[in-house]
Amino acid sequence: MSQLAIYNPANGEPIAELAADDERSVAAKAEAARAAQPAWAARSLEERKACMVRFRDGVVRDLEALAVTMTRETGKPISMSRSELNGLLGRIDFFVGMVGPVTATETVFDEGGMKERIEHMPLGVVGNISAWNYPWFVGCNVIVPALLTGNAVLYKPSEYASLTGLEIARLLHQAGVPRDVFTPLVGAGPVGAALLAQKIDGLFFTGSHATGVRIAQAVGSRLVKLQLELGGKDPTYVCDDADPKAAAQSLADGAMYNTGQSCCSVERIYVHEKIHDAFVAAFIETVKGFKVGDPMREDTYIGPLTRAAQLDVLDAQVADAKVQGATLHTGGHRLPGPGNWYAPTVISEAHHGMALMKEESFGPIIGIQKVTGDEEAVRLMNDTRYGLTAGVYSRNAERAQAVLSRVNAGSLYWNCCDRVSPRLPWSGFGDSGIGVTLSTYGIETFTRPRAWHLKFTG
Ligand code: NAD
Repeated sequence: MSQLAIYNPANGEPIAELAADDERSVAAKAEAARAAQPAWAARSLEERKACMVRFRDGVVRDLEALAVTMTRETGKPISMSRSELNGLLGRIDFFVGMVGPVTATETVFDEGGMKERIEHMPLGVVGNISAWNYPWFVGCNVIVPALLTGNAVLYKPSEYASLTGLEIARLLHQAGVPRDVFTPLVGAGPVGAALLAQKIDGLFFTGSHATGVRIAQAVGSRLVKLQLELGGKDPTYVCDDADPKAAAQSLADGAMYNTGQSCCSVERIYVHEKIHDAFVAAFIETVKGFKVGDPMREDTYIGPLTRAAQLDVLDAQVADAKVQGATLHTGGHRLPGPGNWYAPTVISEAHHGMALMKEESFGPIIGIQKVTGDEEAVRLMNDTRYGLTAGVYSRNAERAQAVLSRVNAGSLYWNCCDRVSPRLPWSGFGDSGIGVTLSTYGIETFTRPRAWHLKFTG
């Protein structure tokens, strides 16, 4: 077996060596999951719900240690690691509360001795290949509803969040989920590829567009149910009637929270020319107030980037924007190592000829562009291949909703941003993906509806 080395992105130091899976071990685990799934599905829903409640109890009990593990391997500031784990609890509560109503067998017709029923069956064995930026959220958006609905799960956490992935497995097993019903697979891309080669009934992926396309190609010919939650280039428009300071403070947080490494980070901002200068000044002031440093410190707001390779993407976007005449107000460079450090960066006078406004940045950097009004803002917001989220800041609800309704995105925000709710469907338009997690749709998606035609002949 080969080893997977885990490094702390804050200082580059090794923190663990894990035994990694290979093609043979993945195949054996997939076979065991296939054998174990029917008995799991045959358990009562109440038993499966009780397992998830015990899993939740385990998260609460171990929360501090889990937060430290996540911070050490991803660089997420510790206060944000705690917030993610606390936010997870509400998601589990939602899934446990709603799985019964969503999956109850429905009689949809009952007349003259003829009954029609819909039964909700599990898909079977599902694969989950996950990202590192919110490993508890994106993992459990799949794992919890998939297990509740009677599926077995083969879970490949990101190689940048493997310790967290193994903690998820430990707590699920301690909560009573059989080892073969929930199985972590340790490793990088090749282990994910080995999972795709197995007989699976669904593949649920969170990660980059490039990997998503590769995965779609790998499973496409086998007609495996596929969900892809991919990247974004999420825009926000600040109207002339918005409070420039309040909008700037809210959007600086939306752009830089988790060091800008959120799928729904604010990635580009369009500001009405009437309040542009006041907005930019307030934005810069807010960003200069963000504390950059050791992610284990309570007051740190900006930590290291999780992946060193992203530093090159940010350098290239800044250099390209500067060459094309953008104004760099703060940041725009790496910070001294060791570790993957980038200064929070604010750029205005940006335009769509720049990669900064077109390609996902996934770091503590923002491009701001001046616009003349709603028409130009809508055109620019839609000038993208992505469509995850979009926002408008305005005092006028009607105006904001009129603008938002014309934007191609799966989640729309008025006077808020970078927000996810378990009650609402999470999905992307265009290159941001296919399929849905969260909400009742994100439970139903792990089931297959079966139609019953029942004729009573007495
Ligand atoms: P990534 O695509 O590099 O990796 C994602 C996962 O795919 C990892 O587990 C990786 O090991 C695996 N993988 C890599 N190559 C593979 C292959 N050939 N076959 C099978 N598996 C393979 O993405 P990442 O860097 O982990 O995550 C960042 C990206 O995820 C960003 O683009 C971000 O926007 C996106 N994201 C989207 C959402 C969403 O809800 N839409 C949520 C979180 C992150």
